[in-house]
Formats: sequence, structure tokens, C-alpha cells
Amino acid sequence: MTHVARLLAPNPSALTLDGTNAYLLDDGAGHALCIDPGPPVARHVDAILNAARDRDARIEAIFVTHGHPDHWPAAPMLAAACGAPIYAHHTAEFAHDRSLRDGARTRVGGIALRAIDAPGHTFDSLVFYDEDDRALYTGDVVLGTGTVAIAPPGGDMRAYQRTLQRLANAYGEARTIHGGHGPRVDDAQAKLREYIEHRRRREEELLLALALQPQTIPDLVRRIYADVRPVLWPAAARQMLAYLLPLEREGRVRSHELDRPIDAADNAILNPAWASIVGEEHAALVEAELGTMLHLDTLRLYSVNRPG
Ligand SMILES: [Zn+2]
Repeated sequence: MTHVARLLAPNPSALTLDGTNAYLLDDGAGHALCIDPGPPVARHVDAILNAARDRDARIEAIFVTHGHPDHWPAAPMLAAACGAPIYAHHTAEFAHDRSLRDGARTRVGGIALRAIDAPGHTFDSLVFYDEDDRALYTGDVVLGTGTVAIAPPGGDMRAYQRTLQRLANAYGEARTIHGGHGPRVDDAQAKLREYIEHRRRREEELLLALALQPQTIPDLVRRIYADVRPVLWPAAARQMLAYLLPLEREGRVRSHELDRPIDAADNAILNPAWASIVGEEHAALVEAELGTMLHLDTLRLYSVNRPG
């Protein structure tokens, strides 16, 4: 039976909820591994090392779910302190020692972890499955509370939806989800169904709104996210784009560029001053999570493609 400790990194923000979760797993016989050491904070790395010491366990492997700046940068710090190799997705661009492909099994003492290729939030996302414990470690693919940001160019909505469906279908026996943020989820299947349904509903809302009249992304955001605080609208705009890109690719939606400059109200949604919204210290995280390097400098009018 795997013993699981959740160690919360001291990096709370709008995007990280109460902080990024690091997990220390040990087999009760002195063998431990860490999943997502987190942001580069020395006292957080110390907390992980102390947790292992408290369990009389040695950290023998470090796993990273994806290359966002609140998940991986502490990995080399932890590796330097305990000598364990870093495991990551085979396309991960941050420094790691072992590359994992879909289905790869790694054994640490009495714990066997299977790597699951889980693209969508990022293309280098891995979910880890502890078969004996029937527990999924999902990084930013599934969170303990709230929903996940899927934003181009780093994120892909269809890939994400396929990942959720695959987790629900192929890991139907999973009981627990330990997400990259938020508390433990004790009904994995209900959470996966909720996530799949949420995405389907959002897409349906979007198509219904477009069926009423052609609209731009700011129009859609003001309509669909009317009950959400305007400070969150720029993030919502990036989500809208994530739905619209595949819908257009699939021929269900079409768009054309509007022949007018973006006005101030639209620009505040499409290209806000991110640093002043979230603070300079979160700028790198915002860019990674919301794809803000993609400057939306033209206004497109979207409409539903009616069959026939
Ligand atoms: Zn992330």
C-alpha cells in the first residue's frame, strides 16, 4: 500500500489555487518518489526532503507531470539534494534524465507507476497511475477543484477531450485522483465524467450563442461568461479560442477578419496588461497557462456553418 503525502508549494495565485501540489509516495519500506517538486523555492524542496526523512525513506525517483513553471523547476534542486533521476515526457523541453512514453512502467521499491501520455493542457503532459493504489496523479489534466486552462498555442482542446475520455475508459478502475492543484478527489470516475460533461456543455453553449448571431470572441465572452468576474474574461477569451479553433478546423464554424481596429473594450479582453492583473511575479506562469505570447491583434467574426 502506497503512503501518500501532499506537500503544498507556497505559490498561491489565481492560476495555482492554493498552490501547486507536490506528492511524496513511499512504500513503507524506505523507498520513496516525488511527483511534481514544484516551483523553485528552497524551503519547499526542504519540506519534501523532510517529509521523506520523517518516513525513513530515500527519494529514488522524481516525476514531473508537465513543463509549466509551477511544476518542474524544483526538480533539479531536489535531484541535487537526493541524487534521484528526473523522469518526464519524452517531448519535455526542461532538463530530465529519463524520458517516458505512453505505458512506460517505473518501479520504485514496492510502488509501480505507469506513465500515461495525456496531451491537451500541454503536449508534454503525463498522468501517472499507481496500479496497486488505483490512484491517478493528474498534474494539470484534472484538478481537485475547478477546471483546467486549455489555451493555444500550448494547449489543444480536442487532444484534451480525448485524454479525458481515455482516462475514463481505460482507467475505469481508478478510485482516487491526486491533481496538481486542489484537494484529493475520492471518486475519480465522477470527476472525469464531470470534466467531460463540462467541456461538452461549454462547446454547446458556444454553438448556441453563435447560432443566434455571428460574434467575435469578446462578444462570446461577455455573453457566456456574464456571471463570471470581468477580471477573468481575458482567460475566458483564450478558452473560447481553444474551442473555436477545432470547430473551425472541423467545418462546424467559420470566421472572417473584421475590417475595423480592435477597440479598447475588446482589447482589454483579448490582450490585457497581464502583469498588472496577476502581478509581475506570475508573468511566466500566465504566459504558460494562458498562451499570452499569442497576441490577438485582429478581430474575427465567427458564425455557425449550417449543413447543406
Ligand atoms: Zn500547467
